[in-house]
Amino acid sequence: MTAKPHVIVVGAGIIGASIAWHLACKGAAVTIIGEKLGGVATPCSFAWINASWGNPEFYFHFRRRAMAEWKRLAGELPGLPLAWCGGLCWDMPPADLEAYADEHGRWGYGISRLNREESALIEPGLTEYPDFALHVAEEGAVEPVAAARLLLADAETHGAKFITATVNGLLKSGGKIVGAVTSEGVFEADHVLLAAGTGTVPIAASAGITLPLSAPAGLIVHSRPVSKRLNGLVMAPLLHMRQTEEGRIIAGTDFGGSDPGGHPQANAAELFARVKAMIVNNADLKLDFFTVGYRPTPADGFPIIGNAGLPGLYAAVMHSGVTLAPLVGLLAADELLSGESDERLTPFRLQRFTAAR
Ligand SMILES: Cc1cc2nc3c(=O)[nH]c(=O)nc-3n(C[C@H](O)[C@H](O)[C@H](O)COP(=O)(O)OP(=O)(O)OC[C@H]3O[C@@H](n4cnc5c(N)ncnc54)[C@H](O)[C@@H]3O)c2cc1C
Repeated sequence: MTAKPHVIVVGAGIIGASIAWHLACKGAAVTIIGEKLGGVATPCSFAWINASWGNPEFYFHFRRRAMAEWKRLAGELPGLPLAWCGGLCWDMPPADLEAYADEHGRWGYGISRLNREESALIEPGLTEYPDFALHVAEEGAVEPVAAARLLLADAETHGAKFITATVNGLLKSGGKIVGAVTSEGVFEADHVLLAAGTGTVPIAASAGITLPLSAPAGLIVHSRPVSKRLNGLVMAPLLHMRQTEEGRIIAGTDFGGSDPGGHPQANAAELFARVKAMIVNNADLKLDFFTVGYRPTPADGFPIIGNAGLPGLYAAVMHSGVTLAPLVGLLAADELLSGESDERLTPFRLQRFTAAR
């Protein structure tokens, strides 16, 4: 490896931006190649930073570590639009909430059990409250496109170059990937790192590599900006919502949104009506727009991070990319530049899918 390895990062969403920034700060020569600055899934994300229910313990700890890495990143990159606003949650039957609180509490998650009055103190602007809810003060949210753009702009001050182009294939020499073939020409590098979200699949396929990824659709509604109505994240049954830094209430049937099928407009109107019904001071709440995003979701739900099956080729594709971005950026940059495997990434290798067959 040369003293200053050259890495091509394909993708300029939250994952590509974070990896490129960490690589550039650690002294690599970085070329970011992407079609859309700020990403494709990233602008459609609910962007809840969490280690919430539904995951096994090893993945809980990985996510919790990622939450801590957001704090580290905020210290290193002032101006990140990050809010540790906490999450109020009652989107499951009480027995399931209790089981979640018990399990995650034992794992170290800071969960409080709340009665109706305590929930109302946390979110006074709601029209209804459950008898029993949970509150996780350490959860937060980030404005993901602004964060990606900030990371990319700062990476450029560390010497990274951004090229707007479509990657159509990979350059191979002597059994190794040595560059990317793009709409703007061929670029060579010591490593090519694919962080192109769902767009990673066809790029990897061009080198004969299969990435088992699905892309479920998720509808999120965005209100026009309004004065402060919500203090934090609200996870009610069939309605997850938060207020963005610019004052928009954004919401899905859950954080991942549901598939609106052939009726996105009607589904968005119906969902927004539910938002209005849930907020007391709602006269000026107007639906501004909605997004239908496609969540890059590996077949077993866990991230794909690491060598992608050929020397010189690395992949970083995942759901919960907003939660995981600063940790994945840190670990992937370290692995690429040191050439040493980080055992924290062992559960997330692409090879687990072929090994399982
Ligand atoms: C509705 C929804 C809700 C979500 N909620 C949450 C949540 O609450 N919390 C959470 O942690 N995560 C959430 N996620 C998941 C999270 O948003 C994604 O995991 C994350 O945004 C993925 O980022 P990325 O950078 O990998 O991909 P993307 O944002 O999709 O970026 C891909 C990049 O690759 C580029 N690209 C693709 N193909 C090519 C090509 N051939 N040539 C050049 N460039 C290419 C694109 O232009 C883009 O720049 C949600 C996602 C959705 C859709």
